[in-house]
Parts: sequence; C-alpha cells; structure tokens
Amino acid sequence: MTFTVDHTRLKKGIYKDDITYDLRTVVPYVEPLMSNVCMHSIEHILAVKLNEKINKIYFGPMGCQTGFYLLSDNPEEEVYKALYEACVEALEEKTVPFKSRAECGNYFSLDFSDEVKEKLEILRDLAKEALENPGCFVYPII
Ligand SMILES: [Zn+2]
Repeated sequence: MTFTVDHTRLKKGIYKDDITYDLRTVVPYVEPLMSNVCMHSIEHILAVKLNEKINKIYFGPMGCQTGFYLLSDNPEEEVYKALYEACVEALEEKTVPFKSRAECGNYFSLDFSDEVKEKLEILRDLAKEALENPGCFVYPII
C-alpha cells in the first residue's frame, strides 16, 4: 500500500519499497488512465516473461489504472535488468500469451495494441534509467 505517498507529486518511475516495486506508467491526475485491455495484456506478457528471469512473487496492475506492482526478492539490479529485457523481448514479439478461453477469464480483453506498445516502451526506459542511476526514483511523501 502506498497511501503515505503524495500522488499529486508522483511522476512516472520505479519506486522500490522492500520487495515491492511500484512501476508507475501514468502520472496520476495528469495523464489518461490505462485501459483494461492495456493493463490486462501487459499483465499476461510480463507475468510470463519475468517468471523466466527472476523469482517473481507477484506482478499485476494497480486498481487505480496508473501502474503495476511487481514483487520480487531478487537483488534490485537483477529485477531492473529482467524488466528491461522482458520489455525489449515483448516489443519484438508483439504477442500476448495465454489468449484463449481455457487460459484466461476474459481473453476478449487481450490485444497487443498501440497503448500496450507505448506502456512497454515506458517500462523499458524506466528500467534502463533505474539500472544506470540507482536511487534515481524516490517517492514524494505527504
Ligand atoms: Zn487474463
């Protein structure tokens, strides 16, 4: 939970708190919220890809539609590297895994849309920035 964070001053970034990473892809109250198709598709794509690279405990979208949570107990640098590589691969492949009635509760809302591409590019660039400048993202506290 991030209720002591000042969301009016929160920028795009990767904010780490213990094993929880807040991957903020939208500036709250400034930019349009992510669509369900976008969040759901990225959930499928990165849940699978991150699982192949690190001990991912959880990955999923925020209910407020402004980002994702990633939980991992791997060293910080490995998490950023895995996220960067996962986004690069996903942008090359342009597909959403487990897109079938048997594998998903609502496969109609899965699509490699322009919005998915844009948010994956943002996540890729944020991961690169976090790798190159450790400690560059700091939560604004209320
Ligand atoms: Zn699904």
